[in-house]
Amino acid sequence: MSTGTIAAVAGAFIDGREHANGGDPLPVTNPGTGEVFAEVPGATARDVDTAVDAAARAGAEWSALAVSKRGEILGAAAHHVEAHLDELVPLLTREQGKTLRDSRIELTKAVDTLMHYVGLAKTLRGAHTPGLDPGVDGIVLRRPLGVVGAIVPWNFPTTLLCNKLAPALVAGNTVVAKPAGTTPLTTLRFCELLAEGGLPAGVFNVVTGSGSVTGTALVRHPRVRKIAFTGSTPVGEQIMALAAPGMKRVTLELGGSDPMIICDDADLDAAASAASMGRFYNCGQACLAIKRVYVFESVADQVIEAVAAKAKRLKVGRGDVKGSQMGPLHTAAQREEVAGQVARTLEHGGTLLAGGGPPEDPELEAGFFYAPTVVADPPHDVPMATEEVFGPALPIWRVADLDEAIARANASPFGLGSSVWTRDLARARQAAERIEAGYTWINSRTKVYDELPFGGWKSSGYGKEHGSEAFDYYTETKSVVFGSQS
Ligand code: NAD
Repeated sequence: MSTGTIAAVAGAFIDGREHANGGDPLPVTNPGTGEVFAEVPGATARDVDTAVDAAARAGAEWSALAVSKRGEILGAAAHHVEAHLDELVPLLTREQGKTLRDSRIELTKAVDTLMHYVGLAKTLRGAHTPGLDPGVDGIVLRRPLGVVGAIVPWNFPTTLLCNKLAPALVAGNTVVAKPAGTTPLTTLRFCELLAEGGLPAGVFNVVTGSGSVTGTALVRHPRVRKIAFTGSTPVGEQIMALAAPGMKRVTLELGGSDPMIICDDADLDAAASAASMGRFYNCGQACLAIKRVYVFESVADQVIEAVAAKAKRLKVGRGDVKGSQMGPLHTAAQREEVAGQVARTLEHGGTLLAGGGPPEDPELEAGFFYAPTVVADPPHDVPMATEEVFGPALPIWRVADLDEAIARANASPFGLGSSVWTRDLARARQAAERIEAGYTWINSRTKVYDELPFGGWKSSGYGKEHGSEAFDYYTETKSVVFGSQS
């Protein structure tokens, strides 16, 4: 549906200025109203080539700057973005659907991540090993990779971008980013603001478009040295294969189905609140979200009742309407997908305790809304258990003890996040050691810290973002030996 004016957008930001893409226009839709409000031409392989060319040229000068200078320039540019948050927040809500509050949280976090790596700039160093042999010393140099392609999804367009952009740029690389075809606008403006704030032309470029045309062209491009990807596991697998020729480096932040284990000695009120917040935040469209709950039998009734009551109380509404606590799903297709997973689960068992379809409010009919949904005790082989559910639907199972909970938690192809709720330190430690996931929160949930390395196990990905470890994925090291013979 389209009402009102449809904005025409050039579609790319290359070498410090707007660039008109040559591909077919892609609609940008407001998920809260179903209204198409912009059309953005996709980048063709030729447009991608122009962007990679600009990034490669800019890289010669950028990589030669002192690392502290790169940090200083990025810091000033990030402050310029921060000064424009009031403009970016409604734009992100309009194209993504999330509430204005959540857009502000996301954008603030994106700027924080840039500043975190600005702070780390002075810590980026190699190593020196004296006395390898008599009179022989070794040093380890770090060198940037070159042009990095950053491909991100639509659920957190700016934070997921900055997780890549910040360590890549500080380490001396230049970047060509591709946001999801449905969320191009905030990323384009973000890039423009960084340029206005002093980031040199060509250091950061954005090409928008589909995965099949623009994304593939970026991954295949011979002068792109690394692909930093966040998205679904099937596309991550394709990218790993496409990147094989030339040994292109990849980091892959992929899907998840995070388990939450609630023991009988937990603070049950806190755990129930966390289950609700951790599942329904961003309308359930988060890689790190509580997607499966395993609760000890003896306290299960109380927890299940509390979580269902919270789901029913959540105020669902358009992201730009004051008081909305949960916005719409991002697309109609995403809503169909979630509705299908819930329906196919309930065909096999389980009790529907909340939601299970779109909300009844007629004002929400045109948007892609789905009510917060809770299903208790379905079988363990249904879609809500075995697949990633990327929307506001939460299954809860009763378990006998910690061993069963951990076995169920690990019976998933994914290994992204996890959480354990208990007051018993030994239990917490045991669970943290045995759960197969890149993150385990104890009595806490889903918050990612720039200070700690983050990355999935198993089908949830490869490589780390965040922490000083991220630099390892944006640099090559070289060992240099100073011999004693002249
Ligand atoms: P997606 O994989 O469909 O798309 C992600 C990005 O890849 C988009 O920009 C898309 O255009 C592009 N793309 C698609 N096909 C491509 C191809 N063949 N070559 C190159 N690029 C291609 O994912 P989505 O549905 O947009 O996002 C949701 C998924 O992302 C979920 O599975 C979620 O768990 C995952 N995710 C993971 C993390 C994490 O850090 N692990 C964070 C957020 C989201």
